[in-house]
Amino acid sequence: MRSHLLSTLAFTLAAAGCAGRIGGIGSPEQEGKPGGAVNPFKDVRFFLNPEYTASVEATAKSHPDEADAIRKVATYPTGVWLSDIKAVENLKGWLDEAKKQQDASGVPTMTVIVVYNLPNRDCSAESSAGELKVEENGEARYRAEFIDPIAAQFKAHPDQPIGVILEPDSLGNMATNMAIPKCQQSRSAYKNGIVYAIKSFKLPNVSVYIDAAHAGWLGWDDNRAKIAKVFKTVLSEAGGPQMIRGFAINTSNYTHLSNRDGAVLEPSNPCPNELTYAKLLLGTLAMYGFKNHAFIIDTSRNGKGNIRDKWGDWCNIRGAGLGERPRADPAPGIDAYYWVKPPGESDGSSDPNGPRFDVMCAGANAAKNAPQAGKWFEAYFMDLVHNANPAL
Ligand code: BGC
Repeated sequence: MRSHLLSTLAFTLAAAGCAGRIGGIGSPEQEGKPGGAVNPFKDVRFFLNPEYTASVEATAKSHPDEADAIRKVATYPTGVWLSDIKAVENLKGWLDEAKKQQDASGVPTMTVIVVYNLPNRDCSAESSAGELKVEENGEARYRAEFIDPIAAQFKAHPDQPIGVILEPDSLGNMATNMAIPKCQQSRSAYKNGIVYAIKSFKLPNVSVYIDAAHAGWLGWDDNRAKIAKVFKTVLSEAGGPQMIRGFAINTSNYTHLSNRDGAVLEPSNPCPNELTYAKLLLGTLAMYGFKNHAFIIDTSRNGKGNIRDKWGDWCNIRGAGLGERPRADPAPGIDAYYWVKPPGESDGSSDPNGPRFDVMCAGANAAKNAPQAGKWFEAYFMDLVHNANPAL
């Protein structure tokens, strides 16, 4: 994940009758809301990923004095990341398990899946470079070996709700990072891949949120216009704005929800936090044919604002704390706060001599001794727990 700024300076039905409730998801546009009037995150339970829970439990065991607080973290849901083709093999198991939890409770149980494996992934950074390459048939492999089997699993689990966060950072890179050769070379593969995924995931039980980066990257007026144009191009090819439920913001990032995070660092940005960004982006998008789209905001690690001296820093930021707990309808226009990035998983390795090293991960604001992206980083997890806001 990169998620950093290239600024513009230079530039529980409730439990009542799941069948009816699930039927509402993805039903034809109601009350002008893409994906239906009903927020798919409302009145559902959330699937808890057993692999995440196991990491938290191991950490609780190694910190007996703080085990109670640590174990609380495992009671909140986190995004299930599909970051390579191999991970898709586990999808059936995860969705089957979610179905079991749903049947046992009688409450629709939502699984939030992050789909993250475009060819030339993370084109403007190093730490999350992926397995597929444009020049090695990446586009076709992305469709056949990644998106198709994911869509098949979604179809095979038709009576449980699924939220998809689609390809963090990718369209943000298309909007502002075309000067970087690898991003320029990735442009049509990103667009085609996302169009294909949106079409493939247009299913009654699936709600798609495409990634819209965060305030510290796309908050400026001209960057919001750039991303709106990119979204328009992509959604026109995919079948129109109503093909998606909305937008995911702050994925894996650290920008605070509502304080003046960033305002001092980048006073020219009219969006000093994520709630302001959601509001202003919606206004921009309205000029490009998007109406009433909803947002999901990653609050896994944005409990404490003002923790960076550069807003564009994105790797294992020191001083970060767990943020608002995942929940539906936390604010007008926001479908959910959600822990999309599983708190405690690294953003990237701090070892300059290892693979996938990005200088951001050894920067002044980054925690030391960090493992590879996605790997468990226990010391950092403990910091997130200690700095949690609200406290655990
Ligand atoms: C990594 C993925 C990982 C995800 C969640 C990303 O930065 O590249 O491999 O699954 O974070 O931790």
